[in-house]
Amino acid sequence: MTDSRFSKYQNENQSWVSFLENRVPMSSCHGEHHTKWLVIGAGLTGLSAARRLAKLNPDDTVMLLDAREIGQSASGRNSGFAVAHSHFPGHFDAKLVKGYERIDRLNIKGLDILRSEVSNNNIECDWQEDGFYHAAADKKSLMACDDFIDYLEHRQINFKTILQEELKEQLGTSWYQKAVKVSEGVLINPTKLLFGLAESIPKNVTLYENSPVITLSGKKQITLKTPHASIKADKVLMACNYEATHLNHLKQKILGITLTGSFTRRLTDEEFDSLGKASSWGVLSLHGGGATLRLTKDRRIALRNTAEYNKGKLFSVSQMATRIQIHRQAFENRFPQLKAVPFEESYSCVEGVSANKTNFFKKLSDNLFVAGGFNGSGISKGVAFGTALAEYASSETSELISDCLQCPNALRMPPSPMLGVGARFLIRQRFNGVGKDR
Ligand SMILES: Cc1cc2nc3c(=O)[nH]c(=O)nc-3n(C[C@H](O)[C@H](O)[C@H](O)COP(=O)(O)OP(=O)(O)OC[C@H]3O[C@@H](n4cnc5c(N)ncnc54)[C@H](O)[C@@H]3O)c2cc1C
Repeated sequence: MTDSRFSKYQNENQSWVSFLENRVPMSSCHGEHHTKWLVIGAGLTGLSAARRLAKLNPDDTVMLLDAREIGQSASGRNSGFAVAHSHFPGHFDAKLVKGYERIDRLNIKGLDILRSEVSNNNIECDWQEDGFYHAAADKKSLMACDDFIDYLEHRQINFKTILQEELKEQLGTSWYQKAVKVSEGVLINPTKLLFGLAESIPKNVTLYENSPVITLSGKKQITLKTPHASIKADKVLMACNYEATHLNHLKQKILGITLTGSFTRRLTDEEFDSLGKASSWGVLSLHGGGATLRLTKDRRIALRNTAEYNKGKLFSVSQMATRIQIHRQAFENRFPQLKAVPFEESYSCVEGVSANKTNFFKKLSDNLFVAGGFNGSGISKGVAFGTALAEYASSETSELISDCLQCPNALRMPPSPMLGVGARFLIRQRFNGVGKDR
């Protein structure tokens, strides 16, 4: 039995994983099982949940199932900006301070947990902890830049304003007119991070890859079916992002949007020297959903620059062609001196968003819990929410859990076939001008 909803993630449209040595996946789940704990999805949320469950319940066994191979989801294909402070578009609003603080507590907690996991387990993931740039190239994003500066000042968050000339010296591009460099925040190689987390999984967790949960039923005890296994679980934690809808949860509340990006080949010494002083860096756009840029530790430029509704699917190789042209234009706009540098890898990936940008953290029934939907900013939050979900399901109490529980309810989206129309409208509105990068 196969399930087409979970196919097409390997062998095409890859991302950071293409530059790493082949990793042998863990085996898929076969046969009949009974487990106290089961986590669906081994992205950052699921891996963090499984790690925390294992610690809190050392005598129990935890099964962790992923539909695909580790690193193939948003957690392994993202741009690698692990934020300490979120960027909230618009003017600073004193009435929203409690909300700003709650989100940043979650970011910082997630980052703290991640930092200790990386350090305690010697995970080599190109961890670079000196913040990153939020940059503005056009009039609209310059206004967003001023709003952000005002916000950072009100919140007393450390940052530095950098103007075009200095940016050129640091990054080798004159494209941006102004930027703020927020001092806290970490750049990572997301796939290396996931591989490291999977490798250092606690002993009482068993990770199964290529094992999609196809059905989930039952109240007191949950029965889950995969193509080759039947599992009874006392408690189930769902960490499967927008694909929770395939299991009949969060329908009309979470939507998968498809993002794309490209990596250059490694730069030569001469090309690298044309990029200014900093040896690796990250730039987030102040244009809502605009291009994100990295100069990676292995000297590639990575650029992510489109966001569309594609029914929660990756783009085919042929569909990628038009998106790659957009990447190319954005790349050459920024680095005319690197016009001759080809892309080596392009990819798409799907992320869960909600209409009102809320996140999901819920007890769906006595023994079924869900977390996810991070609207494009889920490295720090995924770790925080996953950890909190394990604590919540283990009947613990913590500030982390109560922060997660305060997520506002998601606005309902229309049912199919209107969902597609509504989704396209929502994405166009939120990411207006994405890809045009002005
Ligand atoms: C291109 C891109 C760039 C991004 N850049 C950044 C960034 O720079 N900084 C940032 O903070 N965030 C970024 N994000 C967002 C961030 O990557 C996500 O919010 C985060 O990784 C979500 O983690 P997750 O574990 O909740 O979900 P996922 O990483 O999507 O993991 C869910 C897992 O569940 C599995 N699954 C689904 N259904 C089933 C099932 N039925 N059975 C078994 N397994 C199942 C999937 O295979 C998947 O592995 C980006 C996202 C994208 C797509």
